[in-house]
Amino acid sequence: MARKVFVLGEIRDQFLRNVSFEALAAGKIISEGGEVVAGLIGENVRTLANDMIYYGADRVVIVEDEKLKYYSPDGYSQAVMAIIDSEKPDAIIFGHTALGKDLSPKIAAKLNAGLISDATAVEIVGGNVVFTRPIYSGKAFEKKIITDGIIFATVRPNNIPPLEKNESRSGEVASISVEIKDLRTIVREVVQNAAEGVDLSEAKVIVAGGRGVKSAEGFEPLKELASVLGGAVGASRGACDANYCDYSLQIGQTGKVVTPDLYIACGISGAIQHLAGMSNSKVIVAINKDPEANIFNVADYGIVGDLFEVVPMLTEEFKKLKI
Ligand code: FAD
Repeated sequence: MARKVFVLGEIRDQFLRNVSFEALAAGKIISEGGEVVAGLIGENVRTLANDMIYYGADRVVIVEDEKLKYYSPDGYSQAVMAIIDSEKPDAIIFGHTALGKDLSPKIAAKLNAGLISDATAVEIVGGNVVFTRPIYSGKAFEKKIITDGIIFATVRPNNIPPLEKNESRSGEVASISVEIKDLRTIVREVVQNAAEGVDLSEAKVIVAGGRGVKSAEGFEPLKELASVLGGAVGASRGACDANYCDYSLQIGQTGKVVTPDLYIACGISGAIQHLAGMSNSKVIVAINKDPEANIFNVADYGIVGDLFEVVPMLTEEFKKLKI
């Protein structure tokens, strides 16, 4: 059954986040040969429309307004609802990001629609759109369908592979004008905090440190390894609580949920709350002095040793590979 799917592109610092392209790939599957309409919301976003088309959108609808420069639930929900009212999609896909997590329930409530959040895969089975999502902190997966009304889901970053970029694709880019009003919150400025380099939630490689790193300076070898691998640095709550690093790096049940291709856990014991945020990583390497550490139960490769010896050795070897 051909469907019209609306995919929200997500912009940060004037660039489209990768999850936008992954959401387009999900949209393509759901459309079953129908139409994928991308939405872009912001201040000057038209220049990004082509990229949405190259990655699978058939058309792009833009809502531009200076009041939409930064995300606000009121402003974005007015813009999104205007696109939905004019496009009348059969399905809607957002990224499962801070923005998507905040906005999607608000939109679902306005539409009186069901919402499947944090999907890691989507497929068509017997004509139904079936989403897979983790439950019990990633220990099990459930398959879900929406049986009635609009299909609405958020997709977890780094799980659904984007389509290959195809610069020969073309499509219409249209603007709709929306009067953005009654904003109850206005974001004046966004100040970046400790967000150097690669975005943690979209990183393909994460080098994470725990209390075993012992100090803020102890994170330096981890930063070097992450930089050689083109990855990001993450942390356990133990390391954040000990003030070795900023809470924005925390991974786990009360931190970020990540699914990189490679997760290197250094001096992290593997508490259940930490595993909740990283156990679905594709390959897990654990470095720990304690051979009994729980992290080895989820690791694909384990190195029993002192991280201050092992991490610099890995960095030197990866440098030789010139990744
Ligand atoms: P530790 O458990 O102290 O482990 C340190 C490890 O480092 C040890 O295994 C030790 O063998 C090893 N080590 C020490 N020195 C070295 C060395 N030189 N080389 C190699 N290894 C070394 N935790 C999270 O991470 N994320 C969360 O989101 C989170 N949410 C929570 C929510 C709740 C409600 C609660 C109650 C707890 C939560 N926690 C969370 C905390 C969690 O229970 C653990 O306390 C925490 O993950 C422990 O951090 P850690 O592994 O860095 O420290």
